[in-house]
Amino acid sequence: MGRILTSEFWSNTTPFFSSSPGMATGAVPTSISNLKTWDSSLGFAKSMDFVRVCDLKSMKSARKRVSIIRNSNPGQDIVELQHASPGSPLLVPRQKYCESLNNTIRRKTSTVMAGNVAIGSEHPIRIQTMTTTDTKDVAGTVEQVMRIADRGADIVRITVQGKKEADACFEIKNSLVQKNYNIPLVADIHFAPAVALRVAECFDKIRVNPGNFADRRAQFEQLEYTDEDYQKELEHIEKVFTPLVEKCKKYGRAMRIGTNHGSLSDRIMSYYGDSPRGMVESAFEFARICRKLDFHNFVFSMKASNPVIMVQAYRLLVAEMYAQGWDYPLHLGVTEAGEGEDGRMKSAIGIGTLLQDGLGDTIRVSLTEPPEEEILPCRRLANLGMRASELQKGVEAFEEKHRRYFDFQRRCGQLPAQKEGEEVDYRGVLHRDGSVLMSVSLDQLKMPEVLYKSLAAKFIVGMPFKDLATVDSILLRELPPVDDANARLALKRLIDISMGVITPLSEQLTKPLPNAMVLVNLKEISTGAYKLLPQGTRLVVSVRGDEPYEELEIIKSVDATMILHDLPYSEDKISRVHTARRLFEYLSDNSLNFPVIHHIQFPNEIHRDDLVIGAGSDAGALLVDGLGDGILLEAPDKDFEFLRNTSFNLLQGCRMRNTKTEYVSCPSCGRTLFDLQEISAEIREKTLHLPGVSIAIMGCIVNGPGEMADADFGYVGGAPGKIDLYVGKTVVKRGIEMEYATDALIDLIKEHGRWVDPPAE
Ligand code: SF4
Repeated sequence: MGRILTSEFWSNTTPFFSSSPGMATGAVPTSISNLKTWDSSLGFAKSMDFVRVCDLKSMKSARKRVSIIRNSNPGQDIVELQHASPGSPLLVPRQKYCESLNNTIRRKTSTVMAGNVAIGSEHPIRIQTMTTTDTKDVAGTVEQVMRIADRGADIVRITVQGKKEADACFEIKNSLVQKNYNIPLVADIHFAPAVALRVAECFDKIRVNPGNFADRRAQFEQLEYTDEDYQKELEHIEKVFTPLVEKCKKYGRAMRIGTNHGSLSDRIMSYYGDSPRGMVESAFEFARICRKLDFHNFVFSMKASNPVIMVQAYRLLVAEMYAQGWDYPLHLGVTEAGEGEDGRMKSAIGIGTLLQDGLGDTIRVSLTEPPEEEILPCRRLANLGMRASELQKGVEAFEEKHRRYFDFQRRCGQLPAQKEGEEVDYRGVLHRDGSVLMSVSLDQLKMPEVLYKSLAAKFIVGMPFKDLATVDSILLRELPPVDDANARLALKRLIDISMGVITPLSEQLTKPLPNAMVLVNLKEISTGAYKLLPQGTRLVVSVRGDEPYEELEIIKSVDATMILHDLPYSEDKISRVHTARRLFEYLSDNSLNFPVIHHIQFPNEIHRDDLVIGAGSDAGALLVDGLGDGILLEAPDKDFEFLRNTSFNLLQGCRMRNTKTEYVSCPSCGRTLFDLQEISAEIREKTLHLPGVSIAIMGCIVNGPGEMADADFGYVGGAPGKIDLYVGKTVVKRGIEMEYATDALIDLIKEHGRWVDPPAE
């Protein structure tokens, strides 16, 4: 019978002892069974039969390092403990997953050489992409590699499906060298050990996918494995993989052990489920073979199309590497991110979060766009990571006890409840799945109908109504004069549909707007200035997050409807992510459950990509940890619709609030069987209005079905000019002519009751 260790295992690790009163006074138990700890010869936690735990003084403290002595090992190991959950008396081992919890400090790694490019913490973060040409088209591929190199990529990957492509690789390499292009080339290998062996003779690096290098194609069945079956498969992997490792050693090649969430083997699925834990173990099976053969020139990757899973998988991987004493570099990426701002946002959330944890040595922003278009966003992200680590951006040290790094658990702020005597309904000023707030100018009030449309409100006979993707609240930095009846009527109509209107204290005191919520800072609370407002006025409190704790204490004296976390963009060394984590820790410690909105004020002239990437990295890094209840983005010279869409994209990317169809589309490569960009655009145009539905658009059946992760429907290139359609991971229609395939997809969505007609304009 297969053992299943799911991700819950890590969050709810079996408590191995409790801080009973006896223990808190320092009594040392002589034996404790079932302690989960790490064995240096294996990848994961093992149960120990017998351990002694020493130094149990002060067990009441939130975290504690203790020494454990194993009966099987006379030496001592250090284990760091934390409470199993906030307030719990049970203690479990704490896993380190990055160098510092309050600063961005790059995790120290070994250096891996891919051709002439060094990857690792002692070097800049390397950027890379992948060609989309047919690998057999040598001239076309060489041209594309040169274009990519000219844009500034450090490394290029090329798909190598079979012998013909492997032969072409020799010509590609030679041709590039003759043209003075020494950019390292990486062969992307799936299901083809013999091809990998051949191409290792000419390319600088080999990417293997542990889910399919030696295993048959995953059947997506929950098979049962005995320990013996499992062991036999591991021996098979070793037999198939060893020649490649030996060859890489001989030729000085690098390797990437690149796990994808969507393509785990049945063996891994049966033991670990479709989980970040399974992804890590899948990579470790291959890494152990490399290590056994004394080959260390490799990096790891743990990609997923869902940034939340991707972040957890990388953190788990690093935690396990710390436990093992391994220091291999990391290649970061979100797979099948899609195109345009959606794709950039998903990459920014996943990659940006990890870079701010100090993790990541080479990155790829995978977009359904020409590969050279990936380089600039990739560079922007790399710069963001390098700058954060060079400045060691962060906040003063604080103890973090409540954040869950390895599994998602949302801290839900208390949504506003209606209070007695209130004239208007405040319950809609925030949304339970994540809120979008927008800054509105006085000018916008001059044309109320245009404003309502910009806020994505429905508009029926001159009156606005809230819809699925309507902005929840607005910030009005300046109020219209009291005698501007039209502007005030427009605001009243918004307040009447439970849209919050937030305005600064000084404005409300001089030009009061009935039922507005008032923005105050900590100083205005401590001086009592806010008491000039009528009693019962709803308060929104702006906080930087790095204030001394004595200053933060004043929050306890007010009943805030929400907090805006707003650290000025100009702060160089102080990090938004770390100050926010400190603020959340403070709120949890004090049982304060005010909703928190991430408020970012971008400077004028910021590039749109920088804004998307900045919002994704700064707010996304918090939302993927379940920290935060919404977003307020301001950028004076950016159009309103762009900011609103970016905000909703951010919430959807963090798997909080779905306001449109979710797309998983592969970036395309040499295997792609149709024009992905054109078809993606066509499918999007017809299906964009289906929130809650997820559609995968994949270029080939080799990897497509495996990598469409948790999509509801799949559109996959089955053969040239032919499309296969999937429901989940099951193919339901094969070989549809391309010209009819989009309509067939829509019919399939209808058959499954997931279709609604697009809203009338
Ligand atoms: S799914 Fe797309 S990117 Fe992946 S191998 Fe197939 S065509 Fe290439």
